[in-house]
Amino acid sequence: AYVITSACIDEKAADCVDVCPVDCIEEGPDQYFIDTDICIECGACEVACPVGAVYYDADLPEEEKGYIEKAENFYKNR
Ligand code: SF4
Repeated sequence: AYVITSACIDEKAADCVDVCPVDCIEEGPDQYFIDTDICIECGACEVACPVGAVYYDADLPEEEKGYIEKAENFYKNR
């Protein structure tokens, strides 16, 4: 699954929202989040992000792994 990480915080460039073919990226209070229930894992958001905030989960740096749970909580608590 794809996940948006710390570089998005207060950056919120939103280029990912424009390229996502299934419209599954939503704006949160401090960053954007990918809804992994809808995401088709096309990778377009990773390429589009101007600050390199999007990773495939298997490629996440250790210090960014908490962003998986942050996104889960965002969609769970909406
Ligand atoms: Fe949208 Fe593709 Fe990114 Fe998934 S990987 S959030 S479908 S742009």
